[in-house]
Amino acid sequence: ALTAGIVGLPNVGKSTLFNAITQAGAESANYPFCTIDPNVGIVEVPDHRLTKLTELVQPKKTVPTAFEFTDIAGIVKGASKGEGLGNKFLSHIREVDAICQVVRCFADDNITHVAGKVDPIDDIETINLELILADLESVEKRIGRVGKLAKQKDKEAVFELEVLEMLKEAFESDKPARTVEFTEEQMKIAKSMHLLTIKPVLYVANVSEDDVADPSSNEYVQQVREFAAKDNAEVIVICAKIESEIAELEGEEKEMFLQELGIEESGLDQLIRAAYHLLGLATYFTAGVQEVRAWTFRKGMKAPQCAGVIHSDFEKGFIRAETVAYEDLLDAGTMTAAKEAGKVRLEGKEYIVKDGDVMHFRFNV
Ligand code: GDP
Repeated sequence: ALTAGIVGLPNVGKSTLFNAITQAGAESANYPFCTIDPNVGIVEVPDHRLTKLTELVQPKKTVPTAFEFTDIAGIVKGASKGEGLGNKFLSHIREVDAICQVVRCFADDNITHVAGKVDPIDDIETINLELILADLESVEKRIGRVGKLAKQKDKEAVFELEVLEMLKEAFESDKPARTVEFTEEQMKIAKSMHLLTIKPVLYVANVSEDDVADPSSNEYVQQVREFAAKDNAEVIVICAKIESEIAELEGEEKEMFLQELGIEESGLDQLIRAAYHLLGLATYFTAGVQEVRAWTFRKGMKAPQCAGVIHSDFEKGFIRAETVAYEDLLDAGTMTAAKEAGKVRLEGKEYIVKDGDVMHFRFNV
């Protein structure tokens, strides 16, 4: 399963946030594909469409989809040189599919900051630099090998060397791989390197209780936003401390608490949604009277693969998928009405599933 890793310097609020995640988190029993590991938190993906479908179909039960956050502890300055838990830290990052970097944007004299002062950009750069240095080392090693072949005019090697040199140049000017503009062919090579800085990133600006309702007044948040725009990254503002309180609430209680705070949606819900997109994930639905359920697929997946998310037999024996777009089903009001309106399509093996498709798979057993 795809996972988003949570990283950050010490004392920025990672554990507080991760506790909120596990607190709000889903029962792993409902999601057998998820990893059971103390460093992994399973979250359900909030989706208003699932609520609407439930009202429409009135099923016996409704099951949201879920994915994982992984808590990655232990970054310190010098990680790329193996300091602290350095190498372990880097290898954990290598295993995640996207990075959520928690950045301290709250001032609190009682809580020490590792660098002595609150400076979000400096914090971000400290972590990014460790990752860039680790990538630079990988690329230099590779250049050593590929360079020899390129000298012998090996065409593929010459092409690869070009990509490696582009990466090296970026790293030497402190730029992560995700900011380099590659052609599609070059990107294939860059991706095959399993670099740390090519992974998509979002910054989680952790603000104080006083700033959640109106984070624009927080100058640290402004700085992070400006930095992120240059870094091809998104920013989510949360107050980890409050999130851990919200996470203990549900339904109306949660709504009321959010209203009191003057926010529409909890920061954690925003983070979950943003991380889900960052991972390149999307949702399709199945809607039967027994169960209305959301399923996760990777954008670009075809109908049989999506059927395989439910069960491998569905993929093996795939015949076709009755498909209706969520909006069309909602407009029609019932599945029968949607069929009469000609909105339900029969899609075959080559169909690329879209976010929001409501699907019924036909398969041979
Ligand atoms: P970690 O080292 O990054 O895991 O940081 P922790 O989650 O342990 O947080 C470090 C300290 O900052 C703890 O004392 C937290 O209570 C405090 N803290 C975390 N988030 C917030 C926040 O949003 N506001 C305030 N005021 N304190 C926070």
